[in-house]
Amino acid sequence: MGKKSNRAGKKTAKKVPAEKNELAMIGGILEGSPDAIGVVVIRLDCGCRKMAAVDEKGDPASKIIMYRDNAESICDQCKKDTGDYMRVTESFIHWEEPAPSAEKQAAIRLKVLGDEINN
Ligand SMILES: [Zn+2]
Repeated sequence: MGKKSNRAGKKTAKKVPAEKNELAMIGGILEGSPDAIGVVVIRLDCGCRKMAAVDEKGDPASKIIMYRDNAESICDQCKKDTGDYMRVTESFIHWEEPAPSAEKQAAIRLKVLGDEINN
């Protein structure tokens, strides 16, 4: 099995590992979302994070959660624009083990992040 190139976009090829503090958050979201097979992680240029669980169809499996490390609340900018996609620096999906097939991952990623990646 060779690796197929991913036609979905440039950013999808890069594998972004979740940071330690993000993993703690991801674990909590997965725990509270029985249907979730992964968590979408969106990093914003201000340092805040946006996360939401997805189910196997790529539909939301939790509320969108926004937070900022070591802060009581998200920044003023995010309060205003709720983390506008224009300010996204990185976005990826952290899959719960066992992760779905590469094809399924690509399909869900496209459904969930497609617009942002193409921007
Ligand atoms: Zn922010």
